[in-house]
Amino acid sequence: MELTDRVIVITGGASGIGEALARRFANDSPAAIVVADIDLAGAEAVAASIGPIATARRCDVSDGAAIAALIAEVVAQHGRIDLYCSNAGIATGKGVEADDATWQSIWDINLMANVHAARALMPLAEPDAPVHLMITASAAGLLINLGDAAYTATKHAAVGLAEWLAVTHGDAGLKVSCLCPQGVRTPMVMAGLGDNQLAANVVEAMGLIEPEQCAETVVEALADERFLILPHPEVAKYQRAKVEGPDRWIATMRGLQARLLGTDR
Ligand code: NAD
Repeated sequence: MELTDRVIVITGGASGIGEALARRFANDSPAAIVVADIDLAGAEAVAASIGPIATARRCDVSDGAAIAALIAEVVAQHGRIDLYCSNAGIATGKGVEADDATWQSIWDINLMANVHAARALMPLAEPDAPVHLMITASAAGLLINLGDAAYTATKHAAVGLAEWLAVTHGDAGLKVSCLCPQGVRTPMVMAGLGDNQLAANVVEAMGLIEPEQCAETVVEALADERFLILPHPEVAKYQRAKVEGPDRWIATMRGLQARLLGTDR
């Protein structure tokens, strides 16, 4: 899809990848960009810096009713939604020992927000007037996030949901893409490090790209109508290795983790 004259909504638009998407999309003269975030002040700052085509909305994507209301409001104001980027996401930095409330919270944000968006967008889509849903999952949804069990599990769920939606609703006009970056230099990655040495070493080992580069790949992939968007092309190679040899892949990941933790010495 081309972005000119489109009505675009971006959740998690106040920071990082969402912010970079909003700024990059603005270059292609869309009709409107709605920057939605739980952080209204941040969303307002991004929208103000883009100019009059951009507006800010507060939306907590862990609340399905808030997503439905956001989508209804945008349609009431602009008549349609052409592209909805379900991008807001969180990480825990924890293993399975994370408490149930933490698991529920990341499940609601990283998976259920996409379900709620799809539910509200489906009735708006028609075969000759498609609605595009881009779900920001992660390379962790294809591979693994060393050190974060809930992030890995919820991003795998998000990839599965994106595939299912693309297969089931594509013919009816809901066009789905799944964005799976590896490391991107955003506040989530940089702030999440804290004293977590494994996370810090993982970030250093994976080589971060800038959010602007991620946004550029998204625009190219949307123009080509690609389902799987990989800003780090090497992820396709890792994915193939995992599928071709699951046991070898697990052993390789164990070795990598031990190396990054320094426990292999
Ligand atoms: P970020 O922390 O910079 O931005 C995330 C934004 O989401 C923030 O503005 C935050 O306020 C917002 N947000 C958090 N919870 C929310 C909620 N309940 N409702 C609405 N907004 C909420 O992080 P980012 O790195 O830009 O992450 C964006 C997406 O990209 C996430 O889904 C993340 O999992 C994914 N991702 C990031 C990386 C990376 O390396 N940065 C890699 C792969 C995938």
